[in-house]
Amino acid sequence: MAASNRDRPIVLIIGAGLTGLLAAQGLKQNGFKAIVVEKEEAIDARPREWTMLVHWAMPIFQRLVPKDILRNLNDALCNPNLQFDAETETLPCYNGVTGELLFSSPTPGARRVSRRRLRALLAGGIDIQWNMSLKDITRTDNGIRADFEGGETIDADYLLGTDGTSSKVREILIGAEKAQPQGSGFLFATGINQYEDAEKTKAIADKHPVAALMMGTSSVGGIGVLSAKDPGDKSTWATFWVKIWRGEPVDLRGREALDYIRTQTAPLRDEFQLAIDWTPDNSYVSVNEMKYWIPVEWDNHGGRVALAGDAAHPMLIYRGQGFQHSITDVDNYVNALLQLHADAGNNLLRADVMDAFDDEVVKRGANAVEQSLCEAEKSLDINTVKQMLMATRGHGK
Ligand SMILES: Cc1cc2nc3c(=O)[nH]c(=O)nc-3n(C[C@H](O)[C@H](O)[C@H](O)COP(=O)(O)OP(=O)(O)OC[C@H]3O[C@@H](n4cnc5c(N)ncnc54)[C@H](O)[C@@H]3O)c2cc1C
Repeated sequence: MAASNRDRPIVLIIGAGLTGLLAAQGLKQNGFKAIVVEKEEAIDARPREWTMLVHWAMPIFQRLVPKDILRNLNDALCNPNLQFDAETETLPCYNGVTGELLFSSPTPGARRVSRRRLRALLAGGIDIQWNMSLKDITRTDNGIRADFEGGETIDADYLLGTDGTSSKVREILIGAEKAQPQGSGFLFATGINQYEDAEKTKAIADKHPVAALMMGTSSVGGIGVLSAKDPGDKSTWATFWVKIWRGEPVDLRGREALDYIRTQTAPLRDEFQLAIDWTPDNSYVSVNEMKYWIPVEWDNHGGRVALAGDAAHPMLIYRGQGFQHSITDVDNYVNALLQLHADAGNNLLRADVMDAFDDEVVKRGANAVEQSLCEAEKSLDINTVKQMLMATRGHGK
């Protein structure tokens, strides 16, 4: 059991995803003690992997992490060997009907990262306790107590729920029914391939050296580079594809998922379809329904408990906004705690400061979740694709 410390407050972070680990780094840098607990057994317990673009929140991310992580950020980049310029810092979107370029979204300063490699980088130097699944939270005289499925207990000054889409912390704060994530009716599939074939890999990378999208038919497609081991030999590279469509919920992995996509979903065209056709049978492939939850006010236990990241606002992946909002949440959270402790906090102040933090997360998060749902609706019809925020406003906030 960790003891409370007024000079160096303890923040217990539930969930070692990107939000929790980034929060731990940001808090540690600012003099707080961060303990991360995670229900999985180890960082690589599950083979889940995807790529994400870090774009408008990149300057905030850079502020939150220590210099050694920034120095090693290339380790997490999908394709670190690129000459980054206006061309590579753009996300092109192709017309699913004609195959022509529909629009390009400029993403200056953005970098596409591997979720798995960024997570490994952010875990460096952080106290993570594995195999700890949160069961309950209670308020104590001086702070907050977390109980875990294995019978363990941890006391802390603050608790930050960063436990993802089906957050247990959220469930405890507002009740199981209200906290339930909603099915969107949009299915998402991804495949990760090492073709071991320079020509096939080149075909994907030639579409765009980072990533490209295709929209406007009953399926959205995406392709790109996941890793570029030997820059001079594309047969050593890994690529990814994604596909989104509207359908009945399924949750499949591996060969079963690949068969489902090939036989039950409408084909894409050009390299977007070839990427799927070429997928070796032993590749990592998954299909599931994207879920969302529109944030509403929660009881923050007198300012002791907060939510951040997908726990606060799980959204669809359109315009790659989820992690940008996680980064913003973490920055605001660190600043709120700094404000509180710089002012030698009392109960009234804590409640005020943390209520304001929550209000902002709820408003910004609800807006982002709703925008992601609207983007999804418009992406499957060529007549509405050009009305998408991605086309009219690009990848900005
Ligand atoms: C395919 C894909 C592409 C994306 N692309 C982009 C993009 O381009 N740009 C962007 O900004 N965002 C993108 N996102 C969104 C982004 O990946 C997420 O917003 C971000 O990773 C959320 O991280 P998280 O830490 O909040 O949640 P998670 O990654 O879900 O982490 C939650 C952690 O909490 C743990 N946990 C759960 N319950 C408990 C419990 N009871 N006790 C202890 N631990 C628990 C889980 O095991 C997990 O490790 C994308 C998402 C996907 C799926």
